[in-house]
Amino acid sequence: MMLTTRITAIVLTCLYLAFPALAAEDAMNILPKDSPVPGGVAVVTLGTLDSPPPKAYYQGKRVITLKPAEHWVAVVGLPLSAKPGPASLKVTRGTASTSVSFEIKAKDYPAQYLTIKNKRQVNPNAEDMKRIQAEKQRSDDARNRFTETELDTLRLQPPAYGRRSSAFGLRRFFNKQPRNPHAGLDIAAPAGTPILSPADGTVVETGHYFFNGNVVFIDHGQGLVTMYCHMQAIDVNKGDKVSTRQPIGKIGATGRVTGPHLHWGVTLNGNSVDPELLLSSSPFSKP
Ligand SMILES: [Zn+2]
Repeated sequence: MMLTTRITAIVLTCLYLAFPALAAEDAMNILPKDSPVPGGVAVVTLGTLDSPPPKAYYQGKRVITLKPAEHWVAVVGLPLSAKPGPASLKVTRGTASTSVSFEIKAKDYPAQYLTIKNKRQVNPNAEDMKRIQAEKQRSDDARNRFTETELDTLRLQPPAYGRRSSAFGLRRFFNKQPRNPHAGLDIAAPAGTPILSPADGTVVETGHYFFNGNVVFIDHGQGLVTMYCHMQAIDVNKGDKVSTRQPIGKIGATGRVTGPHLHWGVTLNGNSVDPELLLSSSPFSKP
C-alpha cells in the first residue's frame, strides 16, 4: 500500500516535471525555425491570454497565429527585401489593439551565375512580357490568400527527395545579367520523380507558365501557400483537397531550367521564405 503511494507520488512528480519540457519540445515540432532575417521567418511571442484569440498583422497583412504550448505566437514571413533593424506587428484582440516589436537581423546571400541557352527566357519579347505579367497576377493571387484555418503544425514533409541544386535566396545572374533572387529551394532528381504534398491543403492554381513551366499552388491555410514549378506532369486539379504526402505530380524540366528539378516555393503572408526553415526532415537523404 505504502509502496503504491510512493510510486504514485514519483510518477506524479515525473509528470509534473516532464510537462514544461514536453511543451517546449512540442513547440519545436510545430513551429518553423526562428530566423528573423530577410527571406526568413520570425516567431514572435504574443502572450498567454486565451480569449479572444489574437490576430496579428505585418505590413498590413494578416500573419499566422497559433498556440503550440502556453503562449500564443505569430509566425511572420519576412520578404527578401526586408531591411535589418526594428520591426513590429499590430496585434488585435477583439477591439483592443497593441504593437509588438521584434528585430530583423542581417543576412548576406551568395551570388549564383547561370547560363541559359534559350535567350528568349532571359530577354523575353513584348508578347512574352504580356504573358509573364498575366501569370504573375495569377501567381500573386494564389500566394496572397488568407484562409481562416486552425493549423496543427507548420512543419512540412519533404515534397520530394533529391539533391540540393540551389538554396533559397541566391542573388541570380542569368547569362551575366542580374535577375530576381532565387525565391525557392531547388531539389534536383530524375524527371518523373513523384512530388508529394508537404501538408494538408487545397489546390488553388495550376498552369503552364513562361518561366516556371508546369505549376501547382497549394493553400494550407492562414497564408501558408506552397508552389511547385517545372513539373513534367500535374496530377491534381484546381479545387482538389490534398492530404499530407499525397502525390500531386512529377519532377520535370519545363520552363526556364538547366535540368530536371523541383523548384519549391513557400509563402507566408505573401512573402517567399526559405522552405528549409519549415521542413520536418531533410529532402536530401531518403528515409
Ligand atoms: Zn529554383
